[in-house]
Order: sequence, then C-alpha cells, then structure tokens
Amino acid sequence: PGKSLPEMLRETTDRYPGNHALSFFGRKLTYRELLGAATAFAAALQNSGVRKGDRVAIMLPNCPQYVIAYYGILSAGGIVTQINPMLVEREMDHILNDSGAETIIVFDALYPKLKNVQGNTKVKTVVAVSLQPSGQSFGSDFTFESFMASASSPFTPVKIEPEHDVAILQYTGGTTGRSKGAMLTHRNIFANVVQSYEFFKDEMKIGQEKFLTVIPLFHVFGMTSCMNLSIFTASQSIMLPRFDLEEVLNTIKQEQPSIFPGVPTMYVAITNHPNAEQYGIDSIKTCNSGSAPMPVELLKEFEGKTGSKILEGYGLSEASPTTHCNPHFAERKPGSVGIGLPSTDYKIVDLGDGVTEVSEGGLGEVIIKGPQVMKGYWNMPEETAMTLRDGWLYTGDIGRMDEDGYLYIVDRKKDMIIASGYNIYPRDVEEVLYEHPSVQEAVVIGVPDPYRGETVKAVIVLKAGKEATEEEIILYCKENMAAYRVPAIVEFRSELPKTAVGKILRRALRGEVKSQ
Ligand code: ATP
Repeated sequence: PGKSLPEMLRETTDRYPGNHALSFFGRKLTYRELLGAATAFAAALQNSGVRKGDRVAIMLPNCPQYVIAYYGILSAGGIVTQINPMLVEREMDHILNDSGAETIIVFDALYPKLKNVQGNTKVKTVVAVSLQPSGQSFGSDFTFESFMASASSPFTPVKIEPEHDVAILQYTGGTTGRSKGAMLTHRNIFANVVQSYEFFKDEMKIGQEKFLTVIPLFHVFGMTSCMNLSIFTASQSIMLPRFDLEEVLNTIKQEQPSIFPGVPTMYVAITNHPNAEQYGIDSIKTCNSGSAPMPVELLKEFEGKTGSKILEGYGLSEASPTTHCNPHFAERKPGSVGIGLPSTDYKIVDLGDGVTEVSEGGLGEVIIKGPQVMKGYWNMPEETAMTLRDGWLYTGDIGRMDEDGYLYIVDRKKDMIIASGYNIYPRDVEEVLYEHPSVQEAVVIGVPDPYRGETVKAVIVLKAGKEATEEEIILYCKENMAAYRVPAIVEFRSELPKTAVGKILRRALRGEVKSQ
C-alpha cells in the first residue's frame, strides 16, 4: 500500500534531522527545520478551516516556501493543486474552478492576477509569498509569515490512506489542449519515488546526494524526480526559481550537485555555452533527461563537452510521472527512453483497436500498468474511461519496443503529420535537422496544404554565429531522408515558444494558441 508523503518526510527527518534538505541562494534548511515548518503550516491550514480532502492551490516558482506549503497541505490531509505560475488569468480561473480550491498560496508577483479572478472562484484564503521584501500590500490577505503565525492551536494529525487518498491534482501541461487534473494518490507518488530509487540506487548514496532543482516543482517531473526523490534519499535540493544559464552554471560550479534532472532544452543551452567546459559539470553523475525527446546528436555533444552522463527517461503526468529510463546497470541506448522501472509493465498496441499487441519493432500506442498510474481525472469520468482501460494507461504516444525491451517514443499520436497519405513522425525529421552543424534547435510541424492535405514545416533556431538558408536546409534533408518527409517550408526564428518546463510548444507554432 505504500506510505503517505508526510510519513516519508517524517522518516527521513527521524534518521537525518541535521542534514540539509533545501538550499536556496545560500539559505539552507535542515530536515528538522523543514518538517517543523511544514507542520506549523499544516496547523495554520487547519486553523483556517482546511479539512481532509480539501483542495489547496500552490502557484509558486521553486523556493523553500513551495516545499513547506506542499508538505503542510498534505499533512493536513489536503490535496495539493499545482498551478503553473506562467498561466494567464483565464487558465487560472479554469483550474481554480475545476478543483474548487478555497485556499491558494501564491507568488506575490501573481497576486494582482489572482485578485482579478478571485471573485469568480471559491477562493477565500490567500497566502502571498514574497522572496524579497517588496513593500507590497496584501490587504486583509496573509503573507507567508503571518499565515504561519496564525495558528492558535497545534497541528492535529490526520489519518491518510495512501492507496485511496489523493495527494495531488496534477493538471496536464496543456501542450496539447484542455487541461485535465490527474488525480495522483499518495501511493502513486511514493511508488514512483521508490521505483526511481531502486532503478538508480547503484549510483545514489542515501544522505549524500545533491540535486540541482531547476525544473519547476509544479511540473510532475520536478515534483517527483527533484523534490520527492531528494527527500526520500535524504539528499539536499539546491533550488533555483528559473533556468538562467549563467546562474545554473555558476551554481553547478559552487555547489557541485551530483544529480540534475532536466529537459533537453536545458542541456542544449548548456552545450552551446562557449565555456561550458569550465564549470565542473562532471560533478554531476547523472543528468536525467525527460519530458521531451533528447536528440541523439545533442546527447553526444553534451556528454563530449561536459564529461557528464545523460540518462534519458520517459513519463507523463498520469504516471506520477516516470515509467521508463535508460539504466546505469545495463546498456544505455541513445534515442531510446530505456526500459521499464521496477513493477512497470508496458505494451505496444495497435493504433486502431487499442488492444492487439504489435509485433516486435512495430509501431503502436504505448500503454502502461504500474503502481504509479493515476486514479483518474478529477471530475472527468468519460476522459478517465478513455485513458484508463482494464487497468492500462493509454499514453497517446506512439512507440516501438526493440528485442531487448527498450522503448522508443516516436511521437505523440496528435503530432503525427499525414501528407499525401504518408504518416510522418516529426521526430524522425528533427533528429536529422539536429545533425546539421548550424542548427541549435529544430521543431517540425504539419501545416495545411491544398494538395498533400498537410505538409512538413521546420522551424529552426541557428547556433550563434552560424548561417544557413532555407534551400540549404531542404537540400540537406533531401540527402538524408526519404523525399516524402523533407520539409517544404523552413522558417528561421531567434527562439522557439516553450512551456514553463522548457518543452517546445508545437501548438503555438501551428498557430492554435498564442505563445505563453
Ligand atoms: P499535455 O499532456 O496536456 O499535452 P504535457 O506535455 O505537459 O501536456 P506531460 O504529462 O508533462 O504533459 O508530458 C507527457 C508527455 O511528454 C508524454 O506523453 C510524451 O509525449 C512526452 N515525453 C515525455 N518524455 C519524453 C521523452 N523522453 N521522449 C519523447 N517524449 C517524451
């Protein structure tokens, strides 16, 4: 049945009370201090009327208050509703109304936005977090400090059933559209933490690791692979509120982290830094890459330049998130997302009927079963029934399995381009574009075409100081891929629209939404 997340924090604290749990611009918190603060926060929540099962929203960048609030909410039996701080008011309104949250912990810079939508929601208690003294007024609302001090009675422990009780509403990131709240139980998340630990334990020493926590904690990857895995292993989490290349490199130099979960765009930025070699990046034993495909060419370039190692994995919000990773203990296959984590089953099934298993090497939808798979979507029984069938999670991703059981993610079903009846997977084209010496970032999308139905368009960011023309890129593609895949249009941009975690936002490029 697993453990509740507050139990996990308590056990680590009992064993390593004096170890540093968090570090934020030089300010450190031990496990004892973290547990104390989380318990005080839980008492304040109870005092304000929060009861078991109530949704409490967090809308913060990475900072110690995030972790304190998260564990405080869970200790009080609440359900953490994670809200991406980059969302616009309409999207905030949607999540607050969908979840029915009555309490929100919000970053001070976003306080005015919240006040614009609050009247439309059930939010009654607002706790504003300032990372620096700003002199900002919050009217009758709380500051983080005044809220912590507001409890008139001590914390009353709440019984949590890890198997049944929802810990998190993880709203899917919206690279593909309507945001749905994945209900992750305590057991789902705890299981994923233990599965990840079991998978990496040859390279991890309890109580001695340092995580570089720069991917956002409101994203499921940051939540599990940075914050919760770090707590389970009694490690120190070096937190940064945003990906600022110079700051990240200087932090690596000073703090010498040993584990860096990141997304490909972060590793791209580091690889393209002119002096990347000078920051001691080889202190990092493992760079866990996930969330989006890691182009093979880039992986090699990053490793050659930094002396560190990338292990690419795969997951999704609905699986808390990790289901696959390349191992330390066996062959690592660039281009593949590796093998299943312990207790994780997976199959590749026919795209049409969703049931028949595809023979080895064939393409189909990836479906997954394991203790990390969500309970369902909040308030969406139909979507839940479509996504969870016979205990299998339908990922919406197209993949294939090789003879050793390694998984290759080809693309999302929704991103596949159909041109003149041919199925084109953007990733196949992108891998080739990344091999071009002038290309820093590339993304391929389908655009409407009167003759072919859809045609292939590449959007490219060139490396600093490098040049290339549309004709040159097209010619390069012609020489390196089947004709039907060659982009008909190439657009150059100085940067690509990205989500808060750093994924390239294809919807924005297709013109379906404004970039965020
Ligand atoms: P939405 O599901 O609404 O589009 P999102 O992309 O933010 O939003 P997540 O749950 O964060 O949702 O992302 C999961 C998806 O990310 C997977 O289904 C898969 O398409 C993609 N993904 C994750 N890791 C990899 C990887 N290593 N290679 C390729 N794709 C990956």
